[in-house]
Formats: sequence, structure tokens, C-alpha cells
Amino acid sequence: MLGHMKMSTQRVVLVTGGSRGIGKAISAAFAANGDTVIINYHTSFDEANKLKLELLPGNASVSLEQADVSDYPQVKRMVANILEKFGKIDVVVNNAGIVRDGFLMLMPERDWNDVIAINLNGVFNCSKAVSEPMISQRNGIIINIASLSGITGLPGQANYSAAKGGVIAFTKALSKELASFNIRVNAVAPGVIETEIVDSLNESIKNNFLNAIPMKRFGKPEEVASVVKFLASPDAVYITGETICVTGGLH
Ligand code: NAP
Repeated sequence: MLGHMKMSTQRVVLVTGGSRGIGKAISAAFAANGDTVIINYHTSFDEANKLKLELLPGNASVSLEQADVSDYPQVKRMVANILEKFGKIDVVVNNAGIVRDGFLMLMPERDWNDVIAINLNGVFNCSKAVSEPMISQRNGIIINIASLSGITGLPGQANYSAAKGGVIAFTKALSKELASFNIRVNAVAPGVIETEIVDSLNESIKNNFLNAIPMKRFGKPEEVASVVKFLASPDAVYITGETICVTGGLH
């Protein structure tokens, strides 16, 4: 089976939801590092393809994989495709996520289920699918994009806070399961980062956040990506099970 595989000497990095927002900055950071980057997208083929073309002129190798992270068979197929093309998978960044904000009394069951399905089950699906090859390789790095909301809880985000809090606890548990296989599992908890999710907030909510953030500004996607890149680097080789906040001091 290994005979027809192209075994990459570069690191092979999968970024879920890697074509837009924070995921785009993460894909770009790994590509700038010379890694082989697989940009997973669900609906944004045009953005994914455009980003691939933008990143290719460097020395990076970039490919695209369409999959809904909330669907385990699709995730299994995506991981099988990556193994078929590159022979290994070194780093997975579980970044794909959605918000469906609303107060609990008004929250349709579907908004609860969708957020749990993508933000929490998606992390389970991708981590489970890559843990088998990573265990065989005796090498791997899993980085989950959580949120400050999963630590503090935010009103109007019971679904999102529950999913992200689950991601943080999942990160701790999985880090203990996989440490002996040389696999590190960490999370990054961004505060308020300038992406379409934040653009969609109304002005008064944005101003409330700005007043509360000690650094008095929103974060940039690149400022999250640099922490992800650090966690995936040899500089972080003794760090596992942690959640690093990137919040401008907001807690
Ligand atoms: P965004 O700009 O809305 O992008 C969301 C990404 O998730 C898109 O690439 C989207 O892919 C992907 N996605 C959504 N559903 C998916 C599914 N079922 N399967 C695969 N991919 C899916 O969001 P963002 O602000 O960059 O957020 C990225 C991550 O950071 C999320 O986990 C979010 O919760 C977290 N975060 C963001 C902030 C913030 O302030 N922005 C703060 C804390 C945490 P398609 O477009 O292809 O569908």
C-alpha cells in the first residue's frame, strides 16, 4: 500500500475551515513555513481555491479537501485522501466553527444541535480520524481552536460556550491519552478577533467588547495564527493539554 504513496518530507498540515477568517491566516502561516497545507472547506470552494492560488507562488504545497466536519464518514474520507496523497499527517488544526447566538429561552433546538455538531462533534470527528495514523507514526500535533466564551461563558452563547468548553475539556483528556505516542494536543482560546463572525455583531455589542478589552482593540487572525504556529513548532515540544488565551487581556 505504501508503494504508490508520495511520502512528503515537508510537514503535512490539515486546517479545517482553512479558507476564511482565522483559518485562512492559519493556512497562510503554515504555508509561509514551507509546510504542505491541506485547506479543508465546507461551502467556500471559491475562497479555498483563491487562497490556494495566493499561497502557491511560495515554496508551499497546497491542496484542498471538501468535507463537512460534523459528518464522520466525510472526515474519514478526507483523512484517507490526505494519507493517499502525502503518506502521513503531522498537524491538524481543528478550526472550523459557527455561531448561532440567542438567549436560551429563544434558542431553537436546531441552533443548539448545529453548534454542538460542528464546533464540538467536528473536533471529535477530526481528532478521531487522525489519531489512528498519528499513533502509527508515533508523531502528531492536534490544535483545537476553542474560545474565551468556553472558559467564561457568555450570555446569548449557551450553545457556543458549551461546545467550546467541551473542546477545552476534550483537549485535556485527549492530551493524556495520546502523550505516550508522541502526540501533543493543545487549544487556543481567542477573544474577539476581526473576522466575519465579529463583523456580523451589532455596533453596541462591538463597543461593549472594545471597552472591556484591556488592549482596547480586537485581535487579528494573524495574531491567533502565530500562537497556533508556535504550538505546532519544536519550541512547544513540552506543552500538551493546555489552552492558550489570545484575548488582548480580556478574561
Ligand atoms: P468564519 O470566518 O466564520 O469561518 C468559519 C470557518 O468554518 C469557515 O472556513 C467555514 O467553512 C468553516 N466551517 C463552518 N462549518 C463547517 C463544517 N460543517 N465543516 C467544515 N468547515 C466548516 O469564522 P472565524 O471567526 O474565522 O472562526 C474560526 C474559529 O475560531 C471558529 O472555531 C470560531 O469559533 C473560533 N473563534 C473565533 C473568534 C472570533 O472572534 N472570530 C473568537 C473565538 C473563537 P466554509 O466557509 O467552507 O463553509
